[in-house]
Amino acid sequence: MSKSFAVIGDPIDHSLSPNIHSAAFREMNLDSSYIAYRIPKGELEEGIEGLKKIKIDGFNITIPHKIEMMKYLDKIDESCSLIGAVNTVTNTNGILKGYNTDMDGFLEPFKKKKLNIANTKVLLLGAGGAARAIVAGFAKEKASSITIANRTLENAKNLSEFAKKIRLNANAIKIEEVKDTAKNFDIIVNATSVGLKDESSPISLEGINEKTIVYDIVYIPINTDFIKKAKEKNAIIIYGYEMLLGQAVRAFEIWHDMEAPYSAMKKALLGGF
Ligand code: NDP
Repeated sequence: MSKSFAVIGDPIDHSLSPNIHSAAFREMNLDSSYIAYRIPKGELEEGIEGLKKIKIDGFNITIPHKIEMMKYLDKIDESCSLIGAVNTVTNTNGILKGYNTDMDGFLEPFKKKKLNIANTKVLLLGAGGAARAIVAGFAKEKASSITIANRTLENAKNLSEFAKKIRLNANAIKIEEVKDTAKNFDIIVNATSVGLKDESSPISLEGINEKTIVYDIVYIPINTDFIKKAKEKNAIIIYGYEMLLGQAVRAFEIWHDMEAPYSAMKKALLGGF
């Protein structure tokens, strides 16, 4: 039976999700389609009614609707209630169930590369929506502590309170404090939006070494300045596209209840850059 899927958000023109999911459908011989719909802020309710009318089977949600979408769900998966935001929805006869695959997507590259998180000291740059899913991931995998460094200290403090609630030792600092040195961390993650369009790295990465895991969740360009600086120190690199791929793989598995064709999806994603 043919099924239809979508991604909604604004802006949406450059979304890579249609490429990734269409490649998966082809690879698995599924008669399904995946389209990007622009739904501006303030028009989410009508947008969802429209998707229900055309009997969409499932959809992804991106900026700016990930939090607002929560109030239109009939059922909420644990991943979604923990993070307080939704990026994947199933539609079963008009009943919408929400999931958040960002946490699994973030953790996927660690699993694939057999990189350990348990008992590590983490530096997280940024305290926005994506950072919240990342904190949940580090709590799940039992990191020993997380330092949240952000431009706005208040936002870092709020996120560190969330971390403590889910039993992860956390402290909050201003990003300036680690601008010139980031010593003594096992894992450093950039979850700020800094790096897009070739902006300079948010911190210098001085003090890291070849055992430090450096993960940039910004994925355009693939080689951000942050990643380039980490490469100069021979650090272990995880690219933003790997998280993007991981969350799409998990969404595919939720919708189709079968293992996702990882290689075909990766090839389609990298072809889109
Ligand atoms: P938010 O808008 O929720 O958060 C943005 C974060 O970046 C905040 O911590 C903000 O700090 C910080 N920031 C913004 N501008 C600056 C600046 N000039 N200097 C220092 N800090 C700054 O965004 P998201 O959390 O949703 O997304 C963050 C990035 O991650 C985006 O680039 C997005 O594309 C990417 N992303 C990648 C994913 C993937 O699959 N690879 C998945 C989700 C997101 P402040 O609190 O002070 O405003």
